[in-house]
Amino acid sequence: MAHIYGLNADQQKLVDAATGIAKEVLSKHAADVDQKARFPKESIDALGKAGLMGLCIGAEFGGKGQPPRTFAAVAEELAKECASTAMVFVMHVTAAQQIAASGTLKDKAAILKDAAADRHLTTLAFSEKGSRSNFWAPSSGLVADGANFKTDAAKSWVTSARAAQSYVSSARMPGAPSPLASTLYLVRNGQPGVDIQGSFSGVGLRGNDSAPVALKGYKIPAGDVLTEQGKGADGMLQVVLPWFVVGTSAMSHGLCLKAIELTSGHMQGAGIDFTSQKLRDLPNLRARLADMAVATDRSRALLGYTVGEMEKPDAMTPLRVLQSRRSAVDTAVNVTDLAMKACGGAAFSQHLPVERLFRDARAGWVMAPTVDHLDDFMGKALTGLPLF
Ligand SMILES: Cc1cc2nc3c(=O)[nH]c(=O)nc-3n(C[C@H](O)[C@H](O)[C@H](O)COP(=O)(O)OP(=O)(O)OC[C@H]3O[C@@H](n4cnc5c(N)ncnc54)[C@H](O)[C@@H]3O)c2cc1C
Repeated sequence: MAHIYGLNADQQKLVDAATGIAKEVLSKHAADVDQKARFPKESIDALGKAGLMGLCIGAEFGGKGQPPRTFAAVAEELAKECASTAMVFVMHVTAAQQIAASGTLKDKAAILKDAAADRHLTTLAFSEKGSRSNFWAPSSGLVADGANFKTDAAKSWVTSARAAQSYVSSARMPGAPSPLASTLYLVRNGQPGVDIQGSFSGVGLRGNDSAPVALKGYKIPAGDVLTEQGKGADGMLQVVLPWFVVGTSAMSHGLCLKAIELTSGHMQGAGIDFTSQKLRDLPNLRARLADMAVATDRSRALLGYTVGEMEKPDAMTPLRVLQSRRSAVDTAVNVTDLAMKACGGAAFSQHLPVERLFRDARAGWVMAPTVDHLDDFMGKALTGLPLF
C-alpha cells in the first residue's frame, strides 16, 4: 500500500526501521518519561544507533540525506509511541538543517558529521521572555566584541536544554535598525555564560527536557555565526520554519493515529453486561471514531501534498506549509479530545494512555508559530499583505 507521504521503497525501509524502534524501545519508556518528566535517553540512543539522528543530514557528512517526506513519516511513527522523543528528534533535525544551510559556520562539517553519528544533539533557542512566541523578532541583541560578538539573552524555552550540545539561537544584529534585523548563531552548551534554569513540568511533552536558558555575557566567536548579519529572519522563515512545520505536523498526526488505534481497541474490548454489547455496538461511538479517522487522513493528505511541493517549490508552497501546521495541530487537539470522550472514564482515569496523547497534542497549539500566528500569516498572504 502506498504511504500517504509518498515514500519510495528505500524511504519506506528507513521508516520501517523507525517503527521497529518506536515499538520496541519508545513504547517501553514513554509512560515513565511522561510521569517523571525525564529526557528519553534510551529512545534517543536507539535512534542514534540506527543512524536516524542523521536522517536528513547530507550523505557527504555521513547522514542519510532524506527529504521532508521521510522526516514526516519517521516523526509520525515516533510520536505514536512517545511524542516527547519525537519532539527532541524534530528539533534536532530542524536545527541541523539550519546548520547545514549556514555559509558562515566555521565548524559546519565537523558538527554535521557528529550530529549524523549521534555524537552531537542540537536544538532551537528562539523563544525569549521579551518576544514570547513572536520568535521572528528577538529582544536580545549581539554586541560586537572585536571581531567576535557577545550577548545577554533570556531564552524562555529550549527543548533538550541539558542534553543538547548546541542550540541554534537568534538575536538582533549589532545596531539593528529593527527587531526583524536578526542574526542566527550557535550556542555551545557548557561554555561559560550558558545558564540552564529550572526544569520542565508541563502539561504535555513532559519528557522534552525543555528549560529556560539565560545567556550572560555569552561570547560568540565570529566562526559560530550561522547567517549573514541581519539575515536571521531568512533562516528562520525559509529553512527552520518549513522543517519545523513538517516535523511538528507529522508528530500531531502520529498522536491522532495512536488515538484511533487505542479507541478502536477499547471499543472492541470493553462491553456492557446488561445488553451483552461491546462499546463498538454503539452507533454514536462508531461515528466518533469515523470522525477521528476522516479528520486524521484529511490532514495527513495535506501534509503529503505539501512535502511533495517542498521538493519542487512554487509561489503557493509557503502557504501550504502554514496550512499544514494549522491543520495538523487543530486536528490533533480535536481527535484526541474525541478519543477522550469515546473512551470515557477508562481514558480519564489513565487506564488507557489516551490522556497522554490528549496532553501531548495540546503542546502543538502553543508552540510558535501558534494557531493564532498561522491564521494571521495565512490571512495576510491571502489578501496580499506583507507578513510583517
Ligand atoms: C513543549 C514545548 C517545547 C518548546 N520548545 C521550544 C524550543 O525548543 N525552542 C524555542 O525557541 N521555543 C520552544 N517552545 C516555545 C514555543 O515555541 C512558544 O514560544 C511558547 O510556547 C510561547 O509561550 P508564551 O507563554 O510566551 O506565549 P505567548 O506568546 O504569550 O502567547 C499567548 C497567547 O497569545 C497569542 N499570541 C501571541 N502573540 C500573538 C500575535 N502576535 N498575534 C496573535 N496572537 C498572539 C498566542 O497564540 C497565545 O494564544 C516550546 C514550547 C513548548 C510547549
